Amino acid sequence: MTEQHKSVYPVSEAFKKRALIDRAKYDEMYEQSVKDPETFWGEHGKRIDWIKPYTKVKNTTYDYDNLSIKWFEDGELNASANCLDRHLEKRGDKTAIIFEGDEPSVSRHVTYRELHAETCKFANVLKTLGVSKGDVVTIYMPMIVETAVAMLACARIGAIHSVVFGGFSPEALGARIQNGQSRFVITADEGVRGGRTIPLKKNVDKALQSDRVPDVERVIVVTRTGSDVPWNEDRDARYEDLMKSASADCPPEPMNAEDPLFMLYTSGSTGAPKGVLHTTGGYLVYAAMTHEYVFDYHEGDVYWCTADFGWITGHSYILYGPLANGAITVLFEGVPNYPDASRMGQVVDKHKINVLYTAPTAIRALMAKGDDCMANTSRESLHLLGSVGEPINPEAWEWYYRVIGNSKCPIVDTWWQTETGGILISPLPGAIDLKPGSATLPFFGIQPAVVDNDGNVLEGATEGNLVMLDSWPGQMRTIYGDHERFKQTYFSTYKGRYFTGDGVRRDEDGYYWITGRVDDVLNVSGHRLGTAEVESALVSHDKVAEAAVVGYPHEIKGQGIYVYVTLIQGEQPSDELRKELIQWVRQEIGPIASPDVIQWAPGLPKTRSGKIMRRILRKIASNEHDQLGDTSTLADPGVVDELIQHREFK
Ligand code: ATP
Ligand code: MG
Repeated sequence: MTEQHKSVYPVSEAFKKRALIDRAKYDEMYEQSVKDPETFWGEHGKRIDWIKPYTKVKNTTYDYDNLSIKWFEDGELNASANCLDRHLEKRGDKTAIIFEGDEPSVSRHVTYRELHAETCKFANVLKTLGVSKGDVVTIYMPMIVETAVAMLACARIGAIHSVVFGGFSPEALGARIQNGQSRFVITADEGVRGGRTIPLKKNVDKALQSDRVPDVERVIVVTRTGSDVPWNEDRDARYEDLMKSASADCPPEPMNAEDPLFMLYTSGSTGAPKGVLHTTGGYLVYAAMTHEYVFDYHEGDVYWCTADFGWITGHSYILYGPLANGAITVLFEGVPNYPDASRMGQVVDKHKINVLYTAPTAIRALMAKGDDCMANTSRESLHLLGSVGEPINPEAWEWYYRVIGNSKCPIVDTWWQTETGGILISPLPGAIDLKPGSATLPFFGIQPAVVDNDGNVLEGATEGNLVMLDSWPGQMRTIYGDHERFKQTYFSTYKGRYFTGDGVRRDEDGYYWITGRVDDVLNVSGHRLGTAEVESALVSHDKVAEAAVVGYPHEIKGQGIYVYVTLIQGEQPSDELRKELIQWVRQEIGPIASPDVIQWAPGLPKTRSGKIMRRILRKIASNEHDQLGDTSTLADPGVVDELIQHREFK
C-alpha cells in the first residue's frame, strides 16, 4: 500500500467540540453493551415510545437447532407514531422532509404535522380498500413524498410494506409481488429521474399480466407527471381521488415488537435476491440509535442520504431512523449527474446540508470527471460525510474528503447489510480516528469476529471471514416465506455464528477492513487475495476511474487475475498503459497480485443499487457467459454484451 493510504485522520477539533460521543464514552458504552446487553438495550430501547412497555429485552440464540432472535418481545409500539405523532408537540411545524425534485427548480418542505396528516389519511384509504394488519403491500414508486407517506401509512395500520426499486423491470417486479403474495400495489403514473420518465404504471400492468401474479386486487396510482396511462376500472384507483374524502384521524395500530414492519429484497450482487423480513421494535430502536450516533445528529441538522427507498439505506436512513429522531431528512428524486455533475454540490448549497451520506459508486463517478465538477459550489455547510454500499477505495475516500468535504469533514465509512437493518461497523465521528478504506470499529452491542474457513475464531491482527457472535436489535428475523433458507444462508456455514458473506482484515488497532465478498476472494498460487485491495491499487492510478478484479482458471497458478478497468474521461487505452498498470499493481501490492489479463471496460456491470457484480465478470473472464445466472438485478445489460464481445482471450 502507498504511504498516503496508511494515513490516519484524527478526530477533528470541530467534531470534538460538538460530538455526542467521545472516545472514552465510546469505550465505556461499548464495553457495557457487550458485557451486559440486557441492561444496555433495556435502557436504550426507551429512546422510542412504547404503547405497552417491554419487560423482556433480549431473547436470542444462534444455536442452529433452536435459533431465536427476539427483542423487546412483550412490548407494543407503532413505528409511524414514533416517526410522526410524538414529534407533533415539540416540532410539529418544523420540517420533516425537504423534497428536492429531479428538476433543480423544484423543492418543498413538508412539516411533521403535514406528514402526519397525509399519513393518517392514506392509512384510512388503505383500510377502506381492504388492507389489514399483516397484509403485504408492494410499493413501486419514484422518490417522492407520497412514497414516504405510503410506507408510514402501512406501518400505521400494521401492513407489511415491500418496496421494490422503481428502476426494476416488470419481470423483477412481478417476481417480488408474487414472492410476497401481495394483493395491493402502490405506484405512480410515471417516475422522473435524470430528465427521463419511467413508465411505472405500465410496468405494473405488465407485471400483473403474467399468470404467475394472479392475485392483485388493487393498484393505487399517484399522479406524478399526469400522463395518460392504461387504466383498469375494476382494479385501479387514483391516490388523489381517494385522499379527497379520507379522514385525517387514524389511531396507530398497537404492534407487538416482533410483528413484521417490512420486507425488502437484497441487492442481488451475489445471487438471487433474498426477501429480508424486519420486525418493528428492535429495528426501530436500532435504526434510530445508529442514525443519531453515527451521523452525530443534533436537532436542526440538515441531513441528506442519497439512497433510494428501494434499498435498506433508504428505509433506515432516509425514513425510519431520521424521522424517529425528529430529524430533517432530504428526499431527492433525481440522480447525482443531472442536469450535470455539479448537482450534488448544488443541492448541498441550496438546502445548506450538514450531513451527506452517499455511495462509493457515486463518488467514483464524480471523481472520474475531475475536481472541476464541484467548481461552482462551496459545500461550506457540510460537516460530516458518509459512505455505504461497497468498500470505498482509499483513493476515492481521499477525493471525497478533499473535494466534496473541503478537507474539513470526517467520513463515516459504514459497513452493514439489508440483513442487519442498520449500521454495524463504522466510526463514530467524535470518537474514532479515521483510516481511509476502513469501516473502523463496531457499533454498540455488535460483536464482530474473524474466523478461518473451519470456523476457528482468530485473534489480533488477522484476516478471514466476518461473522457476528451475538444478535443486535436490528437483525433480520427471517427470509419471507422461507425460514429454512434463512437458517441455511446465515447460520449453517459457521455453527453458532451469523455469517455475513464478507471477507475482512483486522489491523493492529483492531480496525476492520472489508476485503470484499468471500465468494469473490482470489486464490492465486495458494495466496488468498481480497478483491478490494487489488481494485483500490488500480483506482489509485491517476488514469483509472474504476476497476473490478476477478479470478479465472489458470493452469499454473490455479487462479489467474482478470482485471476490468474503466479509464477516467479523456484517457485512451494502450498497450503501454496496460504494462504500466501491471507494473503499478506489482509495486503497490506485490508480484503475487500482478494482473494476468486487463480488459478495458467502458462500463462495469452493476446492480441497480450501484454495486459491481463480480459474479457476472467472473463468468465472462472464464468464458462461461452462457451461464450468467440471475441477471434480473443488473442495471444495464448492454454493458455485459459489450464486455463479452471484447473479452481478452489468453
Ligand atoms: P446480495 O446479498 O443479494 O448478494 P448485496 O449483498 O449487495 O446483495 P446489500 O444488503 O444491499 O445486498 O449489501 C450489503 C453488502 O454490501 C455487504 O455485505 C458488503 O459486501 C457491501 N457493503 C456495504 N457497505 C459496505 C462498506 N461500507 N464497506 C464495504 N462493503 C460494504
Ligand atoms: Mg448480501
